[in-house]
Amino acid sequence: MAETEEEEKFPFDINPMYEGERVRKAGMYVELGGQGKPGYELVLFEPDPEQIKDGEVSLIGPDLEDMEEGGNYAYAMIYKVYGEQIEKDLEAVIERRNHEYQSYIQGYMHLNQRSEIWVRISKEAVKKGLKSLKQIGKATIMLFKAELPFIEKMEATFITDEEEVERGLEEANRIYEARDVKTRGLHDEDVDEFYQCTLCQSFAPTNVCVVSPDRIALCGAMSWFDSRAAARIDPEGPNAPIPKGDCIDPIGGEYTGVNEAAVRLSSGEYDSIKLHSFLEKPHTSCGCFEVAGFYIPEVEGIGWVHRGSKVTDTPIGLPFSTIAGSVGGGKQVKGFLGIGIQYFYSPKFIQYDGGWRRVVWMASDLKARVAEAIPEEMKDKIATEKEVKTIEELREFLQRVDHPVVKGVIREVDGERVTEGWAVEVKAEAPSAELEEGVPVEEGVPTASAAQVPLASVPIVASGAGANANTPIRIILKDADISIGKIIVKRKEGK
Ligand code: SF4
Repeated sequence: MAETEEEEKFPFDINPMYEGERVRKAGMYVELGGQGKPGYELVLFEPDPEQIKDGEVSLIGPDLEDMEEGGNYAYAMIYKVYGEQIEKDLEAVIERRNHEYQSYIQGYMHLNQRSEIWVRISKEAVKKGLKSLKQIGKATIMLFKAELPFIEKMEATFITDEEEVERGLEEANRIYEARDVKTRGLHDEDVDEFYQCTLCQSFAPTNVCVVSPDRIALCGAMSWFDSRAAARIDPEGPNAPIPKGDCIDPIGGEYTGVNEAAVRLSSGEYDSIKLHSFLEKPHTSCGCFEVAGFYIPEVEGIGWVHRGSKVTDTPIGLPFSTIAGSVGGGKQVKGFLGIGIQYFYSPKFIQYDGGWRRVVWMASDLKARVAEAIPEEMKDKIATEKEVKTIEELREFLQRVDHPVVKGVIREVDGERVTEGWAVEVKAEAPSAELEEGVPVEEGVPTASAAQVPLASVPIVASGAGANANTPIRIILKDADISIGKIIVKRKEGK
């Protein structure tokens, strides 16, 4: 990047090569936002240019010099922008670039977006002369105006006063919500083009982000409308249209145009993506997803936990951070998926895998946050950390509430059976040479595909007072992973 006179005044380097730079705890001067403190970033379009003091940065709250080394502080960054070509639709687009441009600043780590932002400033940067967040603000404005020339005027207000951040956060959340709601009336079949976003390829080179009306970007920051606005105003930028092409699979959301884009954008790593699938040809995930989904094979269901969740334990025994490690990196990972929170509201939400009928567990704070999106009949069937702590407790819960995964998930959209279920009823067949006594078997006996236990060797004995040829025998196999080809139950002579 060409250095400008102004850039030379900054006590830190500014260069795209610093994108992806991590500031570890040991080398950290302060942390802003993140898990411990509230934070957000917001771009607001100002239609009256006279209302913007171009290039000005103001700060409300303590500055870097007033902060304790190693401390964690609240952080908000609000930018007002004006430009003749700018319209309200571009707010989210410009806002998402804050991550990119601030990542060019050496010693300044910016992660995530919206109300999830997490910033760390290195000790090294402070040692080199970084004294004030205003310097960061000035550098950010300079980058915005250099990279996006349609921004004619820009002013920033940074806030570190925690009460002020909390106050502003409510309004910011209302604005994010209003942006998200806008896309809910538009669906994949209503448009001819989806949009790609390559912004995160700097750290996840094979990531293929496809934004469609029914699938908001996994970072949650780019809807189909936002992507369209970005592609129009910045055709050389990271967003470009993807012609849908022919629909290969309307349930999974697979299109020839998306598959071609997958090959092109992943440099041949992936050749197909189903936009609304969890387990088969899933969308890739970089590192910015708002929510991580994980498959729980023991119950053939899916769990969800979001960034910033207060819940530390999932039934698979891993917190968000560890799960996120499995999800990210721009890979198509079977069994893990990163999504934006708004995708829960999509009528096509993982519909290939059964949609909400496949969801067995959610972090309680996430479940509460998207309560409106959950179909009424599933609300009490999805466990949280409050009801279950382990897989075994989850299995018991799911059986108790008669969750669809127990007997097999039927896809609502086309009535197809997606899973067979792990606790289907095993009915005794008509008396035969193999099932001599016609013994009824208790509902709840798990059956699955892989034969692990030689059933012939399982002792089955009817006991207790009055046991005779007509006494029902119960077979209960816990945590078994078996298939049943044949059951032979014999009554011993004289019993
Ligand atoms: S997560 Fe995807 S949509 Fe969001 S900024 Fe990154 S590449 Fe773009």
